[in-house]
This record gives sequence, C-alpha cells and structure tokens, in this order.
Amino acid sequence: MDPTGSTQREKPLTIGVLALQGAFEVHAAMLRSLGAEPVLIRRPEQLVQPDGTPKVDGLILPGGESSTFLRHLERDGFFDLLDTFVRQTPTFGTCAGAILLATHVTNPSQRSFAALDITVERNAYGRQLDSTILREPTTLSADPLEMVFIRAPRITRTGPGVQTLASRDGDPVLVREGHLLAATFHPELSTDSRVHQLFLDLIEEKLEISAK
Ligand code: GLN
Repeated sequence: MDPTGSTQREKPLTIGVLALQGAFEVHAAMLRSLGAEPVLIRRPEQLVQPDGTPKVDGLILPGGESSTFLRHLERDGFFDLLDTFVRQTPTFGTCAGAILLATHVTNPSQRSFAALDITVERNAYGRQLDSTILREPTTLSADPLEMVFIRAPRITRTGPGVQTLASRDGDPVLVREGHLLAATFHPELSTDSRVHQLFLDLIEEKLEISAK
C-alpha cells in the first residue's frame, strides 16, 4: 500500500468509458489523473474478445440521455453484449448510466440492463432543483462530497443487497451492489476524485478476490 492507501500496480487498470454520447472525456481525464488508463469504447469489439473475455478491468457508463444511449446500443448487438458484461465486470453508471443499470426505470418506463437492484425515476427533481450543486455527507472518508446534479434521476427503491454511500434529502444518490456502482450525480464534473477512486478500489478488490 502507498501512503494514500491505494495499491501500487505494475500495470495500470484499464477502464472502458462508453463513448457513444455524453460526458465521456471528463471521466477519461479523471481516470488518467488517478493513474488508470481509460479506453473510449465506441464499438462492441473494443470491450470483449471474440470468446467474451473482457478487454478492460472495468467500465464507466457516463451521463447523457439514457434514451439516446439505448438507441445507439440497439445496433450491432451492443445492448446484449453489455447486458452480459455488466453482470460480470465492475461497472460504474453515472446519471444516465445509473438509469441503464437499474432493474426498474420509471417516468417513463424504459429498457435497461436490470443488473443493479434499484428503481429510478427519470428527471425526478423539479425544474429548479434538477441541475444543482450540493455538498452532502458521505460514507467515503474525509469531507462532505460535492455533487453536481444535471436533470438527475431519483433512486426511489434500493434492494436488500444495495449499500447507500451518499444521499440527498433522504434519497440515495451513490449506491453499490457488489461489483456495480451508481451515482445519480456527475462525479467527473467535480474536482473531488474520491468516487472514481472508490470505483478503482472496488475493481482492485474484485481482482484480488479472483486471484486467490
Ligand atoms: N435526464 C437524463 C436521462 O433521463 C439523465 C441526465 C444525465 O445523465 N445528466 O437519461
């Protein structure tokens, strides 16, 4: 362990960032600043080998417009491939990405990977509140977390296996279930890198367990 608490690796973690639309470049920059290697994923074959083995250690599904993501993903079997991928490989969904991971989507109901046991209501905060910056307590170490919300969804239900790591007025906004992490805000738009570091730590944890 180095003094910051993160494990020193010989080879950096490679993290795919779905780059079909939305806020992917900023995620890539944040990952680079933490010593990981981002790979912008535009086509299914960038994500897995022909036999289905993942080519990356983890994946970020960025914010944007989830219905637009879905339209792009309907091509080339990309949706089905991701549907399998997210069940096996650490994946972090932010905002629209969290909507894609959720088991149930409302307002309106919409197709999703149904991998993370939460219900999300799209565009759930009123016009005044949907784009806002808050500082809220979190279970992550140190100070309250800066959270940038943009036309954010609301997590209206969490399943029994889901841990809430931060909330906004009682609603979970950062949740984890095993190898899956989801935020209804945009951690890449803050200077605070703790949420991305948490995702990298979660991947390390999974790699250590599977190496044993
Ligand atoms: N409102 C978007 C949706 O429903 C999500 C917004 C975002 O990702 N910032 O998909």
